[in-house]
This record gives sequence, C-alpha cells and structure tokens, in this order.
Amino acid sequence: MTVASVEVSPQPVPLACGHCGVTHAPVAQAICPECLGPLEPVYDPTRRLPSREEIASRPPSLWRYREWLPFQGTPVHSLDTGFTPLVEAPRLADLLGVGRLWIKNDTVTHPTLSFKDRVVATAINAAVGLGLRTIACASTGNLAIAVGAHAARAGLPAWVLVPETLEPAKILATAVSGARVLRIRGTYDDVNRLCAQLADRYAWGIVNVNLRPYYGEGSKTVAFEIAEQLGWRLPTAVVAPMAGGSLLSKLHKGFGEIREAGLAGGPAPRLYGAQAAGCAPIAHAVETGASRITPVVPKTIARSLAIGAPADGPRAIHAIRSTGGWAGSVSDPELIEAIRVLAEHTGIFAETAGGVTTAVALKLAQAGRFGPADEVVLCITAHGLKTPDAVSPDQFDIPTVSSRLGDVAKVIEA
Ligand SMILES: *Cc1c(COP(=O)(O)O)cnc(C)c1O
Ligand SMILES: [Zn+2]
Repeated sequence: MTVASVEVSPQPVPLACGHCGVTHAPVAQAICPECLGPLEPVYDPTRRLPSREEIASRPPSLWRYREWLPFQGTPVHSLDTGFTPLVEAPRLADLLGVGRLWIKNDTVTHPTLSFKDRVVATAINAAVGLGLRTIACASTGNLAIAVGAHAARAGLPAWVLVPETLEPAKILATAVSGARVLRIRGTYDDVNRLCAQLADRYAWGIVNVNLRPYYGEGSKTVAFEIAEQLGWRLPTAVVAPMAGGSLLSKLHKGFGEIREAGLAGGPAPRLYGAQAAGCAPIAHAVETGASRITPVVPKTIARSLAIGAPADGPRAIHAIRSTGGWAGSVSDPELIEAIRVLAEHTGIFAETAGGVTTAVALKLAQAGRFGPADEVVLCITAHGLKTPDAVSPDQFDIPTVSSRLGDVAKVIEA
C-alpha cells in the first residue's frame, strides 16, 4: 500500500458541541468530551458565499457547494462525486396523485452507485486533512463499498467492518478494491460499538464514527442539488430512506442553509422518512408521537437501512416534525413489489432502500399525505444491481425459445 500524497490537503473546519457549545480544534471525534453532546462543524459566518451564477459555472460535483462543506482550502480527493440527475417521473406522479414528481437518482452516484459516495467524499478529505493514514467504517453495505473505493484511489489502506449477514454482492464489491473486510458476528449496532472501541485504540479515520461530524455534511448536498436542479426552487415534499437518520436530518439542514443564503425562497419542504417495517425505530417514534426512540433488533431484507439504534434518530424526528412531514414503514413484500413499480414507471432499478422509499411514498399518498398541488422528490439512494437477489427472477415470465421464427412468433402472439 502506498501512502497518500501530502499535497496541500484541505483543512477541516473546527467543531463545536451542539449541547454545551464548547469549541474544539479540528479533530477526529464525534462526541463532546465535556458533556457527550454531538460535535458539529463550525462555519465562519462571515465567509463569502457564491451566487447562483457562480455555482452554475463550477464543475458538476458536490464540491460546487464547497462553502457549505466543512473545509478550508481545496479538496483533493473524490472530486467526481455528486450532481446526480433529478429526473421528472410523470407516470409515477399520476400513480401517487401528485402534481409533479422527480427522482433524485443517486443510483448513479460516482464511483460506487449509492449516496454513500457523498459522505465518504467529505470524510476522506477530512481524514487526509487531519493526517490520518488509514480509513475505516462500520457499514450496512453501501458505506463499505464507498470506503473501499474512495480509499483505494486515494492510496489509503481501508478496514471495513460489516455484519456477517451482509449481501454477498456488497462484500465482493468492497473486497475488490483491496479493502480489508471483517465480517462481524452480530448486528450493525454491535459492529458500530466495536468501531467506537477501535477508534480509541488505532489512529484511524472511521468515517461514520470519529469522522461523523465531517461525514454527515456530505448528505446536505442532496438538498442543494435538488434546489439547483429545480431552478433554485424548493419542492413541497421530499421522501427519503432512513437508516441512522443522517440523510434525513441533513436534508433539513441543507434546505435551511439554502433559504438562509437566499438561493431559494418559500417554505421548507415537508420531509418524509421511510423505513422497513422490520427495522423502523424512527418511523415508529414519529407515528406514535414518542419523544424517545426504542431500539430494535433489525429483521428485514433492506439491509442497507438495518440500523436498530439510529445515531441521528432524534434529529431525523425533529426534521420531520418541524417541517410538517411524516414517516412510514413497509413490509419486505411491499418493498420488493415497489422495486418493480419504480422500475416500471421510471426505468430506474433501485436496491431495497429504493423499494422502501417508493413503497412508503405510495402508502403516504394513499393515506392522503400528499395532494394534487404537491411537488414531490423521492430520494432513491442506491442501485438495484447491489441487491439482485431481492427481486427473484421467478416472479417474471421469461421463456426460453428456439431460434426459429415460428416458435418465437408463437410466444409473441400468444
Ligand atoms: C446509508 C443509506 C441510507 C441512509 O442512511 P442514514 O444513516 O439514514 O443517513 C439510505 N439509503 C441507502 C441505500 C443507504 O446505504
Ligand atoms: Zn458539550
């Protein structure tokens, strides 16, 4: 393994505790040593912000919003991530009975086909800026693949810890980039606890553990892209899948920053969170009005969302409640069916998390949560070829026929 080049790496911004307010020099740490509150990046409120035109003139990646990403200086790694298509889907809008509907298509995020490329793009620049030379993560799958890929091209060794039951396609796609993969006997939450201990023992940048303050900010770029791609307008509603609840809470932060900067006006979009019924601690708290999250032991094929003790659950609940949104959960058969519905109406093949998001959107529409005036965005966060076994070929009628015209015509005309 070669060591990352020490070109002028970007300097991560300082952190401050969200509870007690104490500030800390840039550091690989997510929890306030004083009060155990969450550490957050601190942005210079006097920094110069770009205009819409300036943003438009920049390369099509998430770094076009760099003033809202936690660095001083120019990022050197993962410059191709972000700016995925926002695709209008009128047939799906009809099915939901809403005015307009778009898919934020993160199934084609570079380089690993899931929205986790965004958070790893920011985390890896933070790691390099902090002088850390090994990258690691606790993962439900997509993060593993992204950490492996982004670390490989930066020339950094990577350790990736996953629950033993992870889909083989995801383990393979991680190992192929040279990352060391450890399959841990236990749930994601066990793996996560273990990684917190590893962070104390080794000088590693564990992207979603000690680099979490920098990592999470990458998710905000989904909000910035949606607004810019709508011509600097905001949709009325956004539906997003929830695992740890980071994406959903960062959408809230991102839309808030867009409005604060005057880049787009109007009300904040209502945020809707989607989970699988077999692991729905955040959705359950929203639906029952609970003030606390009750952790669960996950039991669903939507493994990318299977976090039973969601770190950003309380923030996701706050984002949902304060925007007038809601949450929902769907069974495994419902999410599998919705993978087909999404593909049949948009041509986009999503993994299980996309099935969850689509199925929850359909359910919320049936419950009257959306109206004909609504302009809805569905965040579809990873590609279907990552979980091909979720959609069994047995459910399709795919005959094998001889190469004789007559035989083929018989099938076509039947
Ligand atoms: C990780 C992940 C999410 C959301 O994760 P959060 O922890 O809630 O930010 C959504 N979709 C996919 C496919 C993921 O891998
Ligand atoms: Zn504190």
